[in-house]
Amino acid sequence: MQFEQLNIIAPIQRALKDEGYTDPTPIQEKAIGPLLEGRDLLGTAQTGTGKTAAFAIPILQGLSGAFKTPRKIQALILAPTRELAIQIQDSFKTYGKYLNSRTIAIYGGVSQRPQTDELARGVDILVATPGRLLDLINQKFIHLENVKYFVLDEADMMLDMGMIHDVRKIISYLPHVRQTMFFSATMPKEIAVLAHSILKDPVKAEVTPVASTVDTINQQLYFVDKPDKIHLLIHLLKTLDIESVLVFSRTKHGADKIVKALVISGLPALAIHGNKSQNARQAALKSFKDRKTKILVATDIAARGLDIDELSHVLIYDLPEVSETYVHRIGRTGRAGLGGTAISFCDEEERGLLRDIEKLINKTIPIIHEHPFSPRGHRVRPTEPVFSAKPSNFDKKKHNEKDPARFHRQKPHPASTSKKEGPKPNYQNGKKAK
Ligand code: AMP
Repeated sequence: MQFEQLNIIAPIQRALKDEGYTDPTPIQEKAIGPLLEGRDLLGTAQTGTGKTAAFAIPILQGLSGAFKTPRKIQALILAPTRELAIQIQDSFKTYGKYLNSRTIAIYGGVSQRPQTDELARGVDILVATPGRLLDLINQKFIHLENVKYFVLDEADMMLDMGMIHDVRKIISYLPHVRQTMFFSATMPKEIAVLAHSILKDPVKAEVTPVASTVDTINQQLYFVDKPDKIHLLIHLLKTLDIESVLVFSRTKHGADKIVKALVISGLPALAIHGNKSQNARQAALKSFKDRKTKILVATDIAARGLDIDELSHVLIYDLPEVSETYVHRIGRTGRAGLGGTAISFCDEEERGLLRDIEKLINKTIPIIHEHPFSPRGHRVRPTEPVFSAKPSNFDKKKHNEKDPARFHRQKPHPASTSKKEGPKPNYQNGKKAK
């Protein structure tokens, strides 16, 4: 399918063309048509799937005849973090550049004055984080009675960051007659209840990144005892040729501990998680994106919405409790056509989690046996033979992940590509990953 088949108006088509987009991504294919018809939407999709354009295009099109002064807020997009709010604002500006629209983003952690000045100049589309929005509503800088389109993005992340109460309050200020788009990567009960309460007969669009990420990323597994994880991490970061790595920690406290240990070992690193101020997170992200810091340690939730290009490695320090999260995490690499590498650590207690993950992705993750912190007795899966020497039919090319010198930026070896399902594209900056 091509964008031309989606009844998108010429000025938006032109903007999409400028971006080099020709084909809609799966979430866009599923969502844009029904949204243009005025349906509500329940979307299950991650960053990287093109979900922003999936809701931005129909909103811009729906409002295209209504961008007039005096401007009133006609579309509200709620996002959990400042980084996401800015990314969404940029998308609206990009896709709406041939329309007379005005989009601004407001978020906490910075002075409100420049934001209230911008608001005073009039705005059609407002992208906001919940806390700052409520603040400005209470101060009467913002009125929501003209909102026709409401988007709740990354709802489960908002729940995790303790924002759901604010979100409910904001929803109570919205007109009842409106079109609502609800996005969440996962559907915990509280989120499902919220979705149910605010959506009217929604179209459901689900895009799981499972096949795309699993098939194109070079995955590696290190068995390691828990106390040795930090030593193995330092060892790998010092010995592998890593351009940029996102390290996933299960907890915020864990992320801080990792950063501390890395810095002491002479490896500059920064942490990004929900307990950090917006400013600290933004600074860490900028430093990482500008390649000033090549190690970013994040909790899963904080990392999820980040649109980071060209990540050569992800490192899963703690295996996630929810198997799908593994797929989301490794999906942070291998974008934009780069052969990414996803390294996972697994300690004795995490073996059950590993089993669940391998069941979900329907393959075993290749193990790196040879490393200084390989635990005795736990070197292999119970069903796997131990290679004490190279077997006669040893194919070095296929097993090159065992050779540390060849460890960097390998292309996925043939064995890691599913036969049933070919690699699916991921989308980044207008380019389809090859
Ligand atoms: P998102 O999931 O909205 O954060 O989008 C991820 C990336 O995909 C963004 O950097 C967009 O520039 C890009 N993108 C969105 N739609 C398309 C498309 N139809 N074709 C190619 N790239 C796209």
